[in-house]
Amino acid sequence: MPKVAVVTGGTRGIGYAISIALKDRGFRVAANYAGNDNAAQQFQAETGIPVYRWDVGDYEACATGLKRVASDLGPIDVVVNNAGITKDAMLHKMTPEMWNEVIRIDLGSMFNMTQPVIEGMRNRNWGRIINITSINGQKGQMGQTNYSAAKAGVIGFTKALAMETAKKGVTVNCVAPGYIDTEMVQAVPEKVLESIVAQIPVGRLGTCTEIARCVTFLASDEAGFITGSTLTANGGQYIAG
Ligand code: NDP
Repeated sequence: MPKVAVVTGGTRGIGYAISIALKDRGFRVAANYAGNDNAAQQFQAETGIPVYRWDVGDYEACATGLKRVASDLGPIDVVVNNAGITKDAMLHKMTPEMWNEVIRIDLGSMFNMTQPVIEGMRNRNWGRIINITSINGQKGQMGQTNYSAAKAGVIGFTKALAMETAKKGVTVNCVAPGYIDTEMVQAVPEKVLESIVAQIPVGRLGTCTEIARCVTFLASDEAGFITGSTLTANGGQYIAG
């Protein structure tokens, strides 16, 4: 029986590459997204992967969406918590809305997407939770107190849940990308991009495929002894202990 994987934010950017990579390795994949129907339809046409629209910041929407995926594809074996947003400002200029929305989506989604599936994984004695954090959750970043706090919270969530589920064959890990060649990064002015790349020892941006490779590794049976860890993929920009 092929295993079933749900990828949040699986229709664009890094999530797009993760969805395809899991499909290529034999998983039955469901790709979730927030509201960009055009991108989702294009993704579905290109990949044949079914798409599901719901807000990962909303617990009830996640519980309902996950039930739909399970009834369409089968019990959920892998959750990749990839969806994330930024709303940047220095703290003295940050509004409560900017703070709350980033915490709700980037950190709240960990609970919302994982709590409804974890009991089933425990009962079946196999599961993989893979959470996409960020270099900026590890080292902090000016203008991103909300995002850095949420992404650091993702790492804490991962460690605690890893302890809870280790005996049940369920591993819980993070992938922490550095600067990746996504649409968002491509939109940065050339001079700024040059200064970013200058801080990356390998001398280039990462690719979405390189992050997807980290995820497929952690999703595999061979990664069963790895849990509670953060797989850092940032070209040496920040070497965390
Ligand atoms: P993109 O902005 O390219 O894609 C975001 C995806 O997430 C889209 O599919 C979007 O759906 C979905 N999404 C956003 N909000 C929600 C929501 N509330 N509910 C459901 N889906 C949602 O993101 P990236 O590929 O750049 O980033 C992916 C992850 O990697 C994020 O967690 C990000 O923080 C992290 N990361 C990215 C880095 C980078 O260099 N890009 C570096 C380090 C970490 P829709 O299309 O409908 O809007």
